[in-house]
Amino acid sequence: MTKLDELQNDIHNVIIVGSGPAGHTAAIYTARACLNPIMFEGEMAAGVAAGGQLTTTTEVENFPGFPTGISGPELMMNMRQQSENCGTKIFTKTVDKIDFDSHPYTVHIKEKQFKAKTIIIATGATAKRLGIDGEKTFWQKGISACAVCDGALPMFRDQHLVVIGGGDTACEEANFLSKYASKVSLLVRRDELRASKVMQERTQNNEKIEICWNTEAQEAIGDTTLKQLRVLNNKTNTESVIDIRGLFYGIGHEPNTNFLNESITTDDTGYIVVKEPGSTQTNLEGVFACGDVQDKLYRQAITAAGSGCMAAMDAEHYLSSLS
Ligand code: FAD
Ligand code: NDP
Repeated sequence: MTKLDELQNDIHNVIIVGSGPAGHTAAIYTARACLNPIMFEGEMAAGVAAGGQLTTTTEVENFPGFPTGISGPELMMNMRQQSENCGTKIFTKTVDKIDFDSHPYTVHIKEKQFKAKTIIIATGATAKRLGIDGEKTFWQKGISACAVCDGALPMFRDQHLVVIGGGDTACEEANFLSKYASKVSLLVRRDELRASKVMQERTQNNEKIEICWNTEAQEAIGDTTLKQLRVLNNKTNTESVIDIRGLFYGIGHEPNTNFLNESITTDDTGYIVVKEPGSTQTNLEGVFACGDVQDKLYRQAITAAGSGCMAAMDAEHYLSSLS
């Protein structure tokens, strides 16, 4: 097995940063193109396990090729195995920064440095927090951003739980938690859900889920663990306090681009800007972005995988132009 230190002396064709569906698809394609890719898959980078967001979910029912669905973690284990089988060298390391000032580019991991002619950025996105009063005090003491990871804990069983958000994540979390909870209240800040139609129907038809429209969380209250939530109805402007034992956030994601410096162009919310639709080319030659880190619209496993394929082909094309 190749040791990390041995890689410091070479100039690599391609370094892939991130290990979700985008990163692994880029790895499979670049490995099959004999480019000997190196992947830094992250070590709980941005709070997400290697394998990315799908490691935090249960069933994935919309990824083609699995007629009865597949669990998120299993799908990502399969992708990782396929990347390795094709010849990708994978290291469980988080990239701290990348120096884009001179080519080949230099990837920094603590005191180690790795040079590559092309970089594929596939670092995805991370769940957002609300920042309400009491959030820090009760984080992981009743408040969580991952129902699938934490929802089955004994402290949440047969209890009244709250999920915040109106998108697919929030609906999925509410449905998942309804298996364990006595009741789930879904707090939606508007009077409609953003989630896909199928997810809306599933949520609205779930007898254990109560949808609280126009409702915003204000303060988490408790002693050693979360016990209550102060909420505001933004239509009637009335406040109330509800007894709960668990609060789960499903309010969207932030792109994982903090490790990049301003050499890479991002939009005002931090998403990497690619030169044109249908391309993974960033503002820098030889640097490509794929998956959720550059996509605020589709944000699906299959679109992430598709753009990972594009990044690999764009990198291959660029490398051929160098020789
Ligand atoms: P991600 O999956 O976000 O993976 C990026 C990886 O890069 C992470 O492991 C991260 O730790 C790592 N990383 C970050 N920074 C660094 C760094 N500096 N160095 C090294 N590594 C780093 N989509 C579907 O199509 N079907 C579904 O059923 C579905 N269910 C979902 C359920 C949930 C709960 C969530 C949150 C999302 C779901 N999605 C689903 C969306 C899907 O998971 C994403 O669109 C997809 O995972 C994006 O893939 P990605 O490769 O861009 O990045
Ligand atoms: P979205 O951005 O789609 O939805 C975020 C939700 O949280 C919105 O309803 C938003 O409200 C609400 N929200 C945001 N900020 C706040 C706040 N401060 N207070 C209260 N509510 C807030 O994110 P998701 O994580 O749900 O989905 C991301 C992507 O992943 C989507 O493309 C989705 O389709 C995909 N996904 C797919 C799944 C599947 O196919 N099974 C499962 C999970 C995710 P508002 O609507 O008012 O803006």
